[in-house]
Amino acid sequence: MVLTLFLCLMCVCASALVWLGWKVVEQDSTVETQRVQGRLESAADRIVAALDRSLQQTGDFADARKPGPGEAFVVISGGSVEILPPGALAFSPAQSSEATPGPDVFREAEEFEFDQHDLEKAEATYRRLAGSKPAEVRAGALVRLGRVLRRQRRWPEALKTYDELGKIGSLSLASMPAILVARAARCSVLEESGQQQALQHEARALWADLTGGRLVVSRPTLDTYSDELRRWIGSLPPPPDWDERLAVAKAAATAWRAWRADERGAAGGRRFDLFDGSPVSVCWSSRDGAWQARLAGPSFWRRLWAGLGHDSGTTVRLTGEHGELFFGTSPIKGPTAFRAAAMTGLPWNLTVAPAGDWARSAASGARRRLIVAGFIVFALLLAAGSYFIARSMVRELAVARLQSAFVSAVSHEFRTPLTSIRQLAEMLARGRVDLEEQKQRVYELMMAESDRLRRLVESLLDFGRMQSGAYQFRFESLDGQEWAQAVVEQFGETVRTAGYVVEFAGAVNGAHIHADREALAGALWNLLDNAVKHSPDHKSVRVEVGSAEGKVEFRVIDRGIGIASEDLKHVFERFYRGGNATQAGIKGAGIGLTIVREIVRAHGGEVRLESTPGVGSVFSLILPVQEES
Ligand code: ADP
Repeated sequence: MVLTLFLCLMCVCASALVWLGWKVVEQDSTVETQRVQGRLESAADRIVAALDRSLQQTGDFADARKPGPGEAFVVISGGSVEILPPGALAFSPAQSSEATPGPDVFREAEEFEFDQHDLEKAEATYRRLAGSKPAEVRAGALVRLGRVLRRQRRWPEALKTYDELGKIGSLSLASMPAILVARAARCSVLEESGQQQALQHEARALWADLTGGRLVVSRPTLDTYSDELRRWIGSLPPPPDWDERLAVAKAAATAWRAWRADERGAAGGRRFDLFDGSPVSVCWSSRDGAWQARLAGPSFWRRLWAGLGHDSGTTVRLTGEHGELFFGTSPIKGPTAFRAAAMTGLPWNLTVAPAGDWARSAASGARRRLIVAGFIVFALLLAAGSYFIARSMVRELAVARLQSAFVSAVSHEFRTPLTSIRQLAEMLARGRVDLEEQKQRVYELMMAESDRLRRLVESLLDFGRMQSGAYQFRFESLDGQEWAQAVVEQFGETVRTAGYVVEFAGAVNGAHIHADREALAGALWNLLDNAVKHSPDHKSVRVEVGSAEGKVEFRVIDRGIGIASEDLKHVFERFYRGGNATQAGIKGAGIGLTIVREIVRAHGGEVRLESTPGVGSVFSLILPVQEES
């Protein structure tokens, strides 16, 4: 009952411990999650601020004329388009307006050329006009002169004319730079005249200048000449930054068109978008008829974004209004901090997530492991403590049971001789025994019974002293065989009347032992008494004395009831009584063999036992032989 209560209590404690441990770990992970979230939130705020600063910078026109890496600046004013750095855009967002010569300048020459088919006169007129002052007239005349010369298949002269045209430089002819017109015309001449090698050379050079940013033209011009060039030289790969410059140019052109389409002509604006999948920002303003735009291209943004979150150990994802991914990976697992575009005023939704595995930080993992380990150790200690307490409780309960059995057994032991003595004394007192011989017999019986009582009391006292370690041994040198024979003879006397025969066989002469005569006699007596007690049918006991390897062995052999194998290892324990004895109703207190073992150990010897139920037992006292001095 007590044990059950104790075990229940321990179970409750263990459950409480497990629950507590679980709560602590749970709380720790909540705190950890909050810490991670807090870190992400502050990182998100810092990133928003950094992006905002960059965005401000890309919208600031104060230093727009010195664009940084990945940036461009475009001014469209009147008929001119200025791009900084030159070539930053793959094409010009607007066409440069041309200074077209009046319609009458070339009428006369064109009449010669087309109506009268007088190429000579036409040539002479164009040559005269090519010598005039205004550059646009000169250019127009050279183009037409080249045409006339080509019609006459005068290739070298045609090439020379286009050379001259090319020298006029930046001037536009029908929205195309004169230099482009001149170089393309040279390629046509080379093609017509069959000069393949020179054609390839010049066409490739022109392609390199067109795509390399040295010759920036409008989108339709670029498309037209690209087709033409591809026809001559096949398809050639553009330079590596072509896509970037194309995206920037598209952004500028889109912004420019939007501004022009806006009737109210907004003074400024900002736009951020993907062009062919590349992010470009354009910020424009217009003043006094001039339109200017500051652009930041994909390389600018990708570099900026790639640098975000490094200081806070986070990764960044930017998405557009419609969920389009500008930067980062998608989707992100685990904790994140989110900033909507509407909240921040940025053109992107921002998601910040932990980079690497700091969210599952080593320190917190170690701390949690430590807590769990602590609780496990605690639980183990509790379990071990409970086990030992329960075990000792079981033992104590067993001892308590044995003790109460001992008390009742001892009481029985006392009662039998006391009752006998009392009956014999009563017989004497009432004069029921007349004959002297009978009286003598009664006295002897009374003596034997009182002797039994004395032995019992002494063995109890010895047991008490031995258990407390207060027993005083008085050692002397004894002849082992002589001593044993005396004890056996004395014992034989006491049991003879009950019909028992105790045989003695000694094969050792003069082997001495160092022993307490009385105590050792008590031990041997105990074994003899047990042998007789446990041999109800076979009334002969044999004692043998032998020696070997410096030891003397006293063997008490009976052919009694024997001891069950499960009892063998317990019979020397205090208060223990074997099942054989209790079932056969043999009296005893369960301390005899305990005393025997204590005595023999005090003599530096040991007790051995061999027994077979129904066959008999052999108890051996093995003691060291005393060295001859
Ligand atoms: P008890 O007072 O019961 O004899 P002991 O300590 O002397 O106490 O013996 C313990 C138990 O050992 C006995 O109860 C009995 O079961 C067993 N025992 C001892 N000696 C013998 C023997 N010679 N033959 C059979 N059983 C024995």
